[in-house]
Amino acid sequence: MTTRRSQVDEFVALTPSDASYFRAVILFGRNVASYKFALGASLIELSREERDLVPLEDLAVPFARHLTEHLERVDTQGTSASSRFLDACRSFNAGELTEDALRETTARLGFQNVIDAFHVVGGGDIPVRFFEDERRQNGGIRLTDRLHELARTGQGENLPAEVEARWRLVETSWDLNLPARALEVSYEPDGELLVVNARANDRITLTGVRDALNGYQKGRCMYCGAGLSIAGSGGSTVHVDHVIPRVLMERLGGPRNLDGVWNLVLACASCNLEKSARVPGIGCLKQVYRRNEYLIGSHHPLRETLIAQTGPDSAARKDFLLAAYSEAVPLGVWDKDCREREDL
Ligand SMILES: [Zn+2]
Repeated sequence: MTTRRSQVDEFVALTPSDASYFRAVILFGRNVASYKFALGASLIELSREERDLVPLEDLAVPFARHLTEHLERVDTQGTSASSRFLDACRSFNAGELTEDALRETTARLGFQNVIDAFHVVGGGDIPVRFFEDERRQNGGIRLTDRLHELARTGQGENLPAEVEARWRLVETSWDLNLPARALEVSYEPDGELLVVNARANDRITLTGVRDALNGYQKGRCMYCGAGLSIAGSGGSTVHVDHVIPRVLMERLGGPRNLDGVWNLVLACASCNLEKSARVPGIGCLKQVYRRNEYLIGSHHPLRETLIAQTGPDSAARKDFLLAAYSEAVPLGVWDKDCREREDL
């Protein structure tokens, strides 16, 4: 069984880039509150404004904005019973606190743990700093050149949507008291959304499937490795592909849910169209397996969903995937194989 730490190491080592480190922070961090997401989103924003030294009073503005907006949607933004900072955000939403007062409270209470914890993943510090802590010397944080460079790249443009998607998944889990209730995230083909059945006849939309899955495949087409853009207008060219063709479900019926998250990957338009209703080569299946293990390495609710859909341990999940693959082989095997790319 892979440990969390070594999985994060593998995720980064296969494609060592600052985008991979940033994704490791957002996707694999062990969260007790959603502050890390708010800080991650704020960092990208401030970097785009070419900020360097950011006093806490300035950092407080985007940070509190993200949190107050999310509190409007889901009141549970942490696992601890009370937080004076979150209470201040709630008071602001209720019109009982001015913007200046919220800013002052955020600067005083909002950053107590998150600045220290941001670069910690799986029990250790990542070797990259996206900001330096200069609270003692200069009353704030200093954004690093590496953050500025990351924010300028194509992958950097995808990160805000990925942070938002990850945040929505985690807060919904808290709200519905997952994993105790072990609800499954499912795919809604109309609109291409991830949804969860909260109660009978009550489906909650979590987020777009592209935003949720992009980070786990590092913003690249599952099959050819071309860079994907989920941000802005470029997003329309990213296709959601069923690894095991969906037509098999209609043809055979059977117990397998081919709309399960385990079977959905993002692909560029040309790969998706070329593959059509066939299975990819076995090398691509290995990449899908690895991507699924990354989903399991992150915290709820995709972890619980993948385990429920494909098996409790890595051996069972491998068997599950191979069995589904064998059933679909008669549909045809696409000669494209991912053997040449071992980078996911
Ligand atoms: Zn492709």
